Amino acid sequence: MCYARGSEFLPKARICVLVIGCHLSISKGYLAIAQEAVSLGANTFQFFTRNPRGGKAKAIDPADVEAFHGFAAAHGIDRILAHAPYTLNPASATEKTRDFAHLALAEDLARMENTPGQLYNMHPGSHVGQGVDAGIELIADALNEALRPEQTTTLLLETMAGKGSEVGGRFEELAEIIERVELRDKMGVCLDTCHVWDAGYDIAGDLDGVLREFDQIIGLDRLHAIHLNDSLNPRGARKDRHARIGEGLIGFDALSAVTRHPLLRSLPFYLETPQEDPSGYADEIARLREAWEG
Ligand SMILES: [Zn+2]
Repeated sequence: MCYARGSEFLPKARICVLVIGCHLSISKGYLAIAQEAVSLGANTFQFFTRNPRGGKAKAIDPADVEAFHGFAAAHGIDRILAHAPYTLNPASATEKTRDFAHLALAEDLARMENTPGQLYNMHPGSHVGQGVDAGIELIADALNEALRPEQTTTLLLETMAGKGSEVGGRFEELAEIIERVELRDKMGVCLDTCHVWDAGYDIAGDLDGVLREFDQIIGLDRLHAIHLNDSLNPRGARKDRHARIGEGLIGFDALSAVTRHPLLRSLPFYLETPQEDPSGYADEIARLREAWEG
C-alpha cells in the first residue's frame, strides 16, 4: 500500500516503502549521517541534538545542511528525528536543571529550522518525588515557553517505561501534558515499543487493543514516530533495557507486526537497539523490510 507523505523540504511523494532508520552519530555533520544511513539500508535516521549527557550543541554549517537537503531528496530520506539530551528534565526539582531544559529546548528548536518540517523527540521528564501532577505542570510550562507559532518542527513526547519517577509511562500522562500546551498543533507523540511494553501495555498479545487505548486517550493523529526496540525484560517490568529485534521478550514477529499494522505502517520507525557498531542495524533493517514488503 502507498501513502501520501512528505514534508517541507522533501516533495510530497507517495511512499511505498517502509520508512526505517536507526540512531546514528551526527558528529561528522548532516550529509555524513545521511550517507551512513543510506549505506545501512535506512531511509531515515535519529540523532542527538547535542551530547546526550548535556553540554553545548555544535555550530551548524550551512553548506553541510544544503548538501544534506540535496542528498536527502535524491535518496528519499524522510522525516528525520532529532533527540533531546537525556539530561533534559523540565520536571526537575532543581531550578538549575529546569533552566538547562528551557535553554536547550529553545536552542534545539531554533536549530531545527535549518531542516524545516522535521521531528524533535524528548523524554517528558522525571518528577523526582514532587508527584506526577507537579511534573506534568512543569513539563507543560517548559513547552509553553519553548514552542513558537512559526516553528515547522513537530515536538514529540516519548512514551516512557515508568522507571523511577518518569512521567509518561501512562498514555493519560502524555495526554494531560498536551492538554496544557497552548500550541497543541506543534505537539505529537513518539511510541517506544520497549518502553510501552515495560510500562505494561501488551503490544505483543493485543496490539489492536493498545492502539485503541492510545487513540481514545491521546488520539492516533498525534502519533508521528515509533522507536522500534525489543525489551530485555517481561511486560510491566518498568526497567527500560533495550534488546535487539528478536533477541528480547517482545520478539521479531510482534515487532514486525507493529511496522505492518495498517494504522502504523506509514510512520517512520527508528531502531535504538544495542549494537557493537552501526553495521548491526543493517541486518535488522533488511529483515524488517523483507517482512514489511512480503
Ligand atoms: Zn526510545
